[in-house]
Amino acid sequence: MPTFVYMTRCDGCGHCVDICPSDIMHIDTTYRRAFNIEPNMCWECYSCVKACPQNAIDDRGYADFAPLGHSVRVLREPEKGVISWRLQFRDGREKNFVSPIRTTEWGSIKGPAEYDAPSAEDFDKQELAHEPEYLNIEGGLPALRPDQLKQGLV
Ligand code: SF4
Ligand code: SF4
Repeated sequence: MPTFVYMTRCDGCGHCVDICPSDIMHIDTTYRRAFNIEPNMCWECYSCVKACPQNAIDDRGYADFAPLGHSVRVLREPEKGVISWRLQFRDGREKNFVSPIRTTEWGSIKGPAEYDAPSAEDFDKQELAHEPEYLNIEGGLPALRPDQLKQGLV
């Protein structure tokens, strides 16, 4: 469900532009407000929704999520550590649900250059850089065991 910006709520701070991994949030040069330049290329990661201090970004639900005539209101509530979703159908019914968000301070996450450089052996491993220790997983990455498969392994 790609995002769009309510330009009357946006103050042009640019947080969504900075955080968008698809580089599709841009500032309109005339009105100094953000807009999604290419909804088809939206990852639907909602990083922009979470980052917007003005709650100016909502998303357009697909037909399998809600039929035409609906609205999807997404509200970032950092004090509760959640994103609140309000889905209103055209017949007036509502669905409300929340999903958790990370609440660490903006800029408090270490950048890639601040981690130790990978060794030559690291390049031969299956794990990505700093896995599993930086995922805070003890005992290695989770993996399926044969006895967990429905029919087992032959
Ligand atoms: Fe960019 Fe993600 Fe927002 Fe889409 S949902 S506009 S990819 S930050
Ligand atoms: Fe506008 Fe929100 Fe983007 Fe800031 S983060 S530019 S207020 S849409």
